[in-house]
Amino acid sequence: MAIGVVKQAKYAAEGCLYTALWPAAKSLRRRLYPPPRPKQIAFTFDDGPNPECTPRLLDLLAAHNVQAAFFLVGKFAKSQPMLVRRMMAEGHVIGNHTWTHPNLAAVSTRRVSEELGRTSTLLEQMTGTAIRIFRPPYGACNPEVLSVARALGMLPVFWNAITDDWEERSASQIVAGLTQQIERNQKRRRATYLVLHDGRADNPQAYCGQSIEAAAGLIERLKHSCRFVSIQTW
Ligand SMILES: [Zn+2]
Repeated sequence: MAIGVVKQAKYAAEGCLYTALWPAAKSLRRRLYPPPRPKQIAFTFDDGPNPECTPRLLDLLAAHNVQAAFFLVGKFAKSQPMLVRRMMAEGHVIGNHTWTHPNLAAVSTRRVSEELGRTSTLLEQMTGTAIRIFRPPYGACNPEVLSVARALGMLPVFWNAITDDWEERSASQIVAGLTQQIERNQKRRRATYLVLHDGRADNPQAYCGQSIEAAAGLIERLKHSCRFVSIQTW
């Protein structure tokens, strides 16, 4: 895994990592934006599905009637068709997070096409629904990546709240980090779309319990003051 890129990605809030390299590229501005509704929180989950953690997460979301977005790694989704169908059946939106989770800004355009095309084809076969959103691993993209995605009918989705929940952190540390960013977004009069990980891109069986506990902690903390929405409503 490109750890250096992962670390930098923390600072790519609200945009594509490397955006500064293409200040004039219109394609970088075509993406999902959070609306000026500061009480809205949209959960997004990356790097699953994971056979142990994703079912626990889906149980949690169902118990609180929260609809989220799941950006799936194609090679993991291939072995978890029941989980993918369960996400759809329970009202979640499914997005493309590439087949093998590479840094798309560092591979050939042909590889970008394969990574995104193969994943969308699989997810569309499994769900019977067109895949309309994608999230580049590490937030790393460039105008070529975005043009391949657009040709496949997909809009890029980034985030405005993220913490390194994939590292060995406690749920309370993750909740504290995300809460700070939610409060910052609220001061800016923006909705929050936050990222947590229900899988680990380098290990399909990885334990992600702290991320699931953090989702539970955030729901408990925010359920009376905020509204949980799906990014589909934006
Ligand atoms: Zn990822």
